[in-house]
Amino acid sequence: MNAFGKRSSVAVVLLGMACAGRADARMIPGSDCQESSKACTCADAPYMELFLKNQQVALDAWKTTRNDIAVNGGASTFEDARASFAQNFHGDARVLTPLAICKDLDTAKIAGPDFLGDGAEVDDCFCTNVCRDIVDGVIAHERTHVAVNIVGIDYMIGVGIGCKVGSFPQQFCDTSNALLLSESEVLAHTVGNNLLSSRLNDLQASDPENPEMECTWEPLPAAQQAAPPPQAPQGFFQRVQMLAQRFLHGAQR
Ligand SMILES: [Zn+2]
Repeated sequence: MNAFGKRSSVAVVLLGMACAGRADARMIPGSDCQESSKACTCADAPYMELFLKNQQVALDAWKTTRNDIAVNGGASTFEDARASFAQNFHGDARVLTPLAICKDLDTAKIAGPDFLGDGAEVDDCFCTNVCRDIVDGVIAHERTHVAVNIVGIDYMIGVGIGCKVGSFPQQFCDTSNALLLSESEVLAHTVGNNLLSSRLNDLQASDPENPEMECTWEPLPAAQQAAPPPQAPQGFFQRVQMLAQRFLHGAQR
């Protein structure tokens, strides 16, 4: 296959990831979602904390998934990686409580990357039933996927050539798609979680409804055990992370 053919086929595979979030007719652009959401107040803090903790558990599950694929192989497609994640992730069902009002919500399709629009699309009922800092974190997550996929396309071309000429180990070549999705999820969760965490800190320092007051709330009881700590990233991850960071910083004003 020539370089152009390789580029087209890889692009199609990567763009296929967006389709999962596109099937629902009630998906709206990220910027519309931000506009329709309400600002977070002290009263939202316990749920924000719960949502963040759940996303941190998801991040750990993606790191476990990624490291397991890198060490043990056994996953070659995006679907394989998602199936592995589903086994590693034990979510907190309490995150769905405020969304019970959303009768048609598909909890597997709350948000997705939007490659041709503003980078993210989000379920409109989610947008109006969680506060804006959570929405912003979800949108940052999806936009990170777009950034990773853009650098990932070039990276996968490089992997394709390296695998073709036999310069990479076979297990790495067999697992590169699953690794790319896992790494994309690790980065997206990291970016989204960091944003929500810093907003929660800001909220704690000052209650928007009483700016002179600190915002305090009862810590939530633990719902589950956290995943084991992740291992150090290997060269593959460092390279994709470096490219993604460069893209993200370049994309910012
Ligand atoms: Zn994601």
